[in-house]
Amino acid sequence: WRAVSDRIDSVAPSATLAVDSEAKAMKANGVDVIGFGAGEPNFPTPDYVVEAAVRACRDPRNHRYTPTPGLPELREAIAAKTLRDSGYRVDPAQVVVTNGGKQAVYETFQVLLNDGDEVIIPAPYWTSYPEAVRLAGGVPVPVFSGADRGFEPRIEDLEAARTARTTAVIVNSPSNPTGAVWSADTIEAIGRWAVEHRIWVISDEIYEHLNYDGAHTAYIGESVPEVREQLVVLNGVAKTYAMTGWRVGWMVAPEPIRAAAVKLQSHLTSNVSNVSQRAALAAVGGSLDAVAAMREAFDRRRRTIVRALNSIPGVVCPTPTGAFYAFADVTGLLGHELGPHHAVAQSSSMLASLLLQEAHIAAVPGEAFGAPGYLRFSYALSDDDLKEGMRRFAEWAR
Ligand code: PLP
Repeated sequence: WRAVSDRIDSVAPSATLAVDSEAKAMKANGVDVIGFGAGEPNFPTPDYVVEAAVRACRDPRNHRYTPTPGLPELREAIAAKTLRDSGYRVDPAQVVVTNGGKQAVYETFQVLLNDGDEVIIPAPYWTSYPEAVRLAGGVPVPVFSGADRGFEPRIEDLEAARTARTTAVIVNSPSNPTGAVWSADTIEAIGRWAVEHRIWVISDEIYEHLNYDGAHTAYIGESVPEVREQLVVLNGVAKTYAMTGWRVGWMVAPEPIRAAAVKLQSHLTSNVSNVSQRAALAAVGGSLDAVAAMREAFDRRRRTIVRALNSIPGVVCPTPTGAFYAFADVTGLLGHELGPHHAVAQSSSMLASLLLQEAHIAAVPGEAFGAPGYLRFSYALSDDDLKEGMRRFAEWAR
């Protein structure tokens, strides 16, 4: 007799959500924890989006199921937005609206992979990618690029990892966890390489509008038109419009993948909450003013946190130009006596635990992203909390 399947047993829980819930539990117990863990903007959802949802609640038409792949109007708005931002035309029929970008990631691998198929995942990677691949019976193949290379994958490294079982490669720029924005040359080279070897490209563009210092998101479907037949674009409203809790994401995929994802979703969750879809329609169909305001605040915090991290002896943090994460190399702190109790961390994971317990700041260890020796700090928190959190880190590490 056994309780759970081998399949679910082979998967790790989301480390980012785990850190966040531990921090929240400590807070609930009266400990004043500062959370750098969650990838969640600290801004409210824009008013006009909330108003659209309130109106939607009152309209009985929205008390019913929508088509599984989403409201036709929302799919049209997503197609129009793709043309506006990514620079190429997609058919609204290619869009599947999902319960957050996370469900789009899950469904993509469920419909793409057979047992043993390999997915090349540039590391450091978002913690859910390898687990979503494993849940689909696939084999994650991480390819690491460190801070010295700007966390940007090299084609020769991807090529060295390619085998007859390679089915897909993930592109995530701007990146979680590194905040790196991959160059247009790298994006184009990956597209050409994928076309040459008939490899699916999964392009997660959820941080597309969060760029700093003049960096631009390069869109693989725009730079390499030939890749579109083997390209799945993943995106959502969470990060651009401060809508993490509304749970609206999507995929844009060519026909066999799209139809397969709709079939899967029809048995899994059916449609996304109608009210949330109406809110997403107001967001996606509206302007980018709200994200411009948030970007300004993020940019200010980005400079503050990078300066603060680099002023701590033993910490080295390259300046990220995208998303809202600082990814710091903390190997210089490992193996030393630190903190009021002279604790010694042998790994970034131990260091994150010590920082939470002793300095009351929550950061996510690099182990969760295929990058031991690093800590990820989300700077989507208030300026005051950010400064106080960094003060605690510096004092603890002194
Ligand atoms: N992709 C990346 C790279 C992310 O960081 C996240 C959230 O943290 C997601 C996708 C999924 O976001 P959501 O499911 O909230 O839309």
